[in-house]
Amino acid sequence: MKILCVLYDDPKGGMPKRYPLSNLPKLDKYPDGMSLPSPKGRDFTPGQLLGCVSGELGLRKFLESNGHEFIVTSSKDGPGNEADKHIVDADIVISQPFFPYYLTREKIKTAKNLKMAITAGIGSDHVDLQAAMDHKIDVVEVTYCNSRSVAEHIVMMIISMVRDYHNQHRIVNEGGWNIADAVQRSYDVEGMHIGTVAAGRIGLDALRKMKPFGVHLHYFDRHRLSTAIEQELNLTFHTSVESMVKVCDVVTINCPLHPETENLFDTAMINKMKKGAYIVNTARGKICNREAIAAALTSGQLSGYAGDVWFPQPAPNDHIWRTMPNHGMTPHTSGTSLSAQTRYADGVREILECYFDKKPIRQQYLIVQNGELAGVGKHSYSKGSATSGSEEAARYKKQ
Ligand code: NAD
Repeated sequence: MKILCVLYDDPKGGMPKRYPLSNLPKLDKYPDGMSLPSPKGRDFTPGQLLGCVSGELGLRKFLESNGHEFIVTSSKDGPGNEADKHIVDADIVISQPFFPYYLTREKIKTAKNLKMAITAGIGSDHVDLQAAMDHKIDVVEVTYCNSRSVAEHIVMMIISMVRDYHNQHRIVNEGGWNIADAVQRSYDVEGMHIGTVAAGRIGLDALRKMKPFGVHLHYFDRHRLSTAIEQELNLTFHTSVESMVKVCDVVTINCPLHPETENLFDTAMINKMKKGAYIVNTARGKICNREAIAAALTSGQLSGYAGDVWFPQPAPNDHIWRTMPNHGMTPHTSGTSLSAQTRYADGVREILECYFDKKPIRQQYLIVQNGELAGVGKHSYSKGSATSGSEEAARYKKQ
């Protein structure tokens, strides 16, 4: 079989000669009892870079020794890119949300042999899921592999934005000691109302992690949590996003991108928020309207916006979120810490082993199967596509 794998570029200075830590902490299982990815074999050192081209998700030896052709590239956007040359006869495509190979309906039409699209991570909106259903291409992802990594990033972003860490750090780097400048936008999180749009694996973990800060917790989700969890966290459930954003100082967005959630935070929704609230979006860039966010930061309707997800990715060099006021953006990194990479590389191998051995892939990993939403796809997505406009990724010029 031919397996096409699209990964982000290596570090500018080449692969690291050494890493800060020599070992990763050992995790036994995920909080709901689900086991960590458990492939039969592993050909990489945990804690090393796997998500870039030379890291190859640690898959080359396994695939080539089993007679498969393995193509790895970071060339994915614009005319003549490498991925488009190989998708026409690839059987399986592997891509990462951090550096997504946008599998639009047009590309899927050219992919005559394609049977499965694997997301090395979580969030398969870079695949036109409707087209995958129509063409009977299965879509799977490594559910839970980086959910808790993202929740950590959310906590970091809430605290750093409300306390205005970025500004204070900049003042120190510039040699200054202007304390009044450093604190004129700095608050405590304690006592604030924090709400999540969606309380799935990430949203719930973010709530749990924020609880010790002495905050009031809120959520909206199309699936209500158990009474036991609501009581444990003293959670307020809202029946709509609007009802929740009206009372929250900080809103964190943790639903997948699909037709129901695309452009959810437009000008109308942002204007329903408390004046001066903060948004942390580590879900998907397209859930928030690009121009509406920038305008709300400029007017003061929002005090801050942070997250690591953009649309498209890589974000064009002149994407307005790079330069808008009071933002705390990172490139799409929250789910690709070295810790998370080990789990999703193991997960991709587990999926491939199951596929080659004709064994069922874990139900939790399924997004689309046999032309229908399945597993997590059925629980967390809606039918349709959210890939339109992704060709704009070709405008990014490497720095
Ligand atoms: P999950 O499937 O456990 O949770 C998703 C939740 O969203 C579910 O509870 C579902 O009911 C809810 N939901 C779906 N549509 C909704 C809607 N219209 N309104 C309200 N709630 C809705 O997934 P997860 O592990 O928590 O991940 C969620 C998303 O976060 C992913 O799909 C992905 O887009 C994003 N993510 C980002 C990164 C990153 O690196 N930034 C990493 C992992 C996941």
